[in-house]
Amino acid sequence: MRIVLLGVPGSGKGTQTEAIVNRYCISTISTGDLLRAEVDAGTKLGQCAKPFIDTGNLVPFDIVLGVIENSLRKLSEASSKGFLIDGFPRDLPQAEALDKLLLRLDQPLDIVLFLDVDYEEIIKRLLIRGRNDDNEDTIRNRLQIFEDKTSPLISYYTKKGLLRKIKGTGDVTDISSHISRILDEVA
Ligand code: ADP
Repeated sequence: MRIVLLGVPGSGKGTQTEAIVNRYCISTISTGDLLRAEVDAGTKLGQCAKPFIDTGNLVPFDIVLGVIENSLRKLSEASSKGFLIDGFPRDLPQAEALDKLLLRLDQPLDIVLFLDVDYEEIIKRLLIRGRNDDNEDTIRNRLQIFEDKTSPLISYYTKKGLLRKIKGTGDVTDISSHISRILDEVA
């Protein structure tokens, strides 16, 4: 099963990702995690990405595409049961690039889940989470970027018949069960 998970920062993608990959034995590709790992390892790529991450801006297309391409190739060589991509695509050019890449690998997406949470709830959650880049200015910038650049992907994937929207507030296990019901239909 091949899944893209969309949602604003703090919508609970990380939590739900863990539940989904455990249930369906698929792999996770999180561009945020991959980029942070590059930063921590002090690679050249990480050094280029750091200022963008620190300010909550999108890391340039070529850097992110390289990271995702690498991961998808590795998975496809390992003939895995599928994947869940979290944090990518974040704008239309990334979505189009992903389509091309998956077409080449003959691994089209099965479903795009959109975890829907309103912005007020998000700011509260992220300030509690307190990761390095979770200060109020960066959070506002990330939400604005979601609104401007990522939210057009909702209609992009709706037109392709792939999008399923899930209410991302309330009990975490209720949200997981809702997602499982949807994914069981696809699996
Ligand atoms: P969140 O969704 O909570 O903001 P992520 O871990 O997904 O957290 O992303 C953290 C940062 O990593 C983003 O603010 C951005 O700078 C960078 N990043 C992650 N994924 C992408 C992507 N697909 N394109 C560009 N930048 C990205």
